[in-house]
Amino acid sequence: MFREMRRFKQQLADEEAVEILKQGKTGILAVLGDEGYPYTVPINYVYDDGKIYMHSAKSGHKVDAIEACDKASFCVIDRDDVVPADYSTLFRSVVAFGRVRIMDEEEAKMAAIRLLGDKYNPGQDEALEAEIARAYSRMHMIELEIEHLTGKQAKELAHVKSPLDE
Ligand SMILES: Cc1cc2nc3c(=O)[nH]c(=O)nc-3n(C[C@H](O)[C@H](O)[C@H](O)COP(=O)(O)OP(=O)(O)OC[C@H]3O[C@@H](n4cnc5c(N)ncnc54)[C@H](O)[C@@H]3O)c2cc1C
Repeated sequence: MFREMRRFKQQLADEEAVEILKQGKTGILAVLGDEGYPYTVPINYVYDDGKIYMHSAKSGHKVDAIEACDKASFCVIDRDDVVPADYSTLFRSVVAFGRVRIMDEEEAKMAAIRLLGDKYNPGQDEALEAEIARAYSRMHMIELEIEHLTGKQAKELAHVKSPLDE
């Protein structure tokens, strides 16, 4: 049911889209918010094996929305170089659609926390364990299982290095 890209020549290979998800720092999570208004919220994340993991406080708009509806999308911008003279932007981005949930299995949740911690502060096992001990009881882990992923780039970038080369 997911749409094809109209400008298919700008579509990235699947591996390039995944690479952008792996390398990205911040994504925009879109959920169905209050009264049918889409709610888009910037968030740090880690990608692993077709899933996106995020951490969150246990309450709030985002959590309420996820509990009410498990459909979500997630966007990461890899490049956004505006070219004023051309009235254009050299962009590269990905959009994922999928099902989102609050994780409740302890082992998988802990594994996701460690993946997230290691992405942003790599190799700091002791500090990470201390942070987990401090924050765990106040923290939800959110999992987005990707159902459909596309990457797209401005046509001018077609011959520039791909995220796989960076
Ligand atoms: C680069 C970046 C990385 C972040 N990483 C994380 C993360 O890893 N985990 C995490 O939990 N949060 C992260 N945040 C904060 C996140 O964007 C939310 O503010 C936070 O998760 C609370 O969301 P909520 O729906 O529970 O907030 P609530 O306070 O319940 O939201 C209520 C209302 O506040 C407004 N609001 C909430 N967040 C924002 C915002 N960021 N900007 C403007 N208005 C807002 C909206 O109108 C929303 O409807 C990050 C933010 C940025 C910019």
